[in-house]
Amino acid sequence: MVAMKRKAIALLSGGLDSQLVVKLMLGQGIELFALNFYSAFHVPSKAAEKAAEKFGINLKKVDFTDQLLAAVKNPKYGHGSGMNPCVDCRIIEFTYAKNYMKEVGAEFVVSGEVLGSRPMSQRMAPLKAIVADSGLDGYILRPLSAKLLPPTIPEKEGWVDREKLLDIQGRSRQPQMFWAKELNLGEYPSPAGGCLLTEKVFAVRLRDLLERKPDPARRDLDLLSIGRHFFSSEGIRIVIPRREEEDVKLRKMLQRDDLVLELKDYLGPIALLPDKNASRQTLEEAGTLLSRFSKTRDLDKVIIKYAQGEVEVSPSKAPQLELQLSRV
Ligand code: SF4
Repeated sequence: MVAMKRKAIALLSGGLDSQLVVKLMLGQGIELFALNFYSAFHVPSKAAEKAAEKFGINLKKVDFTDQLLAAVKNPKYGHGSGMNPCVDCRIIEFTYAKNYMKEVGAEFVVSGEVLGSRPMSQRMAPLKAIVADSGLDGYILRPLSAKLLPPTIPEKEGWVDREKLLDIQGRSRQPQMFWAKELNLGEYPSPAGGCLLTEKVFAVRLRDLLERKPDPARRDLDLLSIGRHFFSSEGIRIVIPRREEEDVKLRKMLQRDDLVLELKDYLGPIALLPDKNASRQTLEEAGTLLSRFSKTRDLDKVIIKYAQGEVEVSPSKAPQLELQLSRV
């Protein structure tokens, strides 16, 4: 009789750690169902899709912006260096994984956490809190640090061989790179800043947004990672892209109630004001800033157009204005 394969849920970012976990588990004959979490706070990436394809495993992508935002506003375990509620975030992910386990008939969850690799969520105490709060006590296996952690049920039951798991700890990436070679992992992405919540500028912007608008819409969050942000003297946000890619991205995000400013006689970026009822004064302030961050910065007068008309501004006034308006 052929033994039935054990099934597990794998939390898959697609980076080196989670790829190593997949490789180790597939090597032990475990059938994997991968989960990839993304949100308005994650830099978009195809790493999880590529990894799932490489290993031939099933992948489910989950947008958990709402739950993560709730944790950002009110974290049980606090924030990290920015607005990142890492312990709460991992609890959300594992709780989701627990429900998905039932759905696909899996018996445990594997993840690429490495003991002591990150200040907040990967020390022993938070790892225990994550296990307890997600209701997965004994069922979360961390194959990269497993030999340094108490045996889990999959190890005790012999579903996986503890001896073939690893004992990596600390922040150095060397052990993972060694095992990537040893296990013929093939290509893996270099570590990239995946979570905007850990970034200082983004954290300041988000804190500011939550003060102004405690229940922001998804687009409010999406705007935070693009361009320069100012507030006009009547408190309306003015977004001006810094680079062409940002300009292209911003144009794709326009909504009906936006007010969009453009240079009339020159090519250049747009300025987006998410409020079409902005006053004439706000229009002039936004237009002046736009002219300053464009090729027109040395001109005396520039015409700025918008859907309902035009406004003439003076780029030379922009530096002074920039100091007056609040900037996040
Ligand atoms: S860095 Fe961001 S995505 Fe990662 S655990 Fe922390 S809050 Fe969650």
